[in-house]
Amino acid sequence: MGATVGILSNTFGVRPVLAASKAGDSAWNLSDDAWRKRLSPEAFHVLRNEGTERPFTSPLNDEKRPGNYHCAGCDLPLFSSEAKFNSGTGWPSFFQPLEKGIATKVDFKLIIPRTEYHCSRCGGHQGHVFNDGPRPTGKRYCNNGVALRFQPA
Ligand SMILES: [Zn+2]
Repeated sequence: MGATVGILSNTFGVRPVLAASKAGDSAWNLSDDAWRKRLSPEAFHVLRNEGTERPFTSPLNDEKRPGNYHCAGCDLPLFSSEAKFNSGTGWPSFFQPLEKGIATKVDFKLIIPRTEYHCSRCGGHQGHVFNDGPRPTGKRYCNNGVALRFQPA
């Protein structure tokens, strides 16, 4: 499945339609209308249309309490506060996801391939992962705050 999508992306250069990834759990394969009812317009734009929120707009940038960051679409825990760091980019950033929280794909929206990641359960877009993060992983998961819900421990 992942390999097929990769081949299609390479063949066409860009993905013809901007849409979220398929839900890993078919119970979360909701219609756009159903998602619109569940989500704020801002969260819908990010989660379902792979939009990007403006930097420095999320209150989660300054969230420092212990807890977990859940998918705003289906409430699956995606990141722990223990993996959060201040990247200075204006988006909540993590060096590691929780196990089984996310899945990735390559997108070509900026011509240069980027690794997109999304919630493994509902397929909602979360952000992009880069290789300039801190130790121990060296990864930077650059996440849209509006796609997350913080659950204090
Ligand atoms: Zn989700």
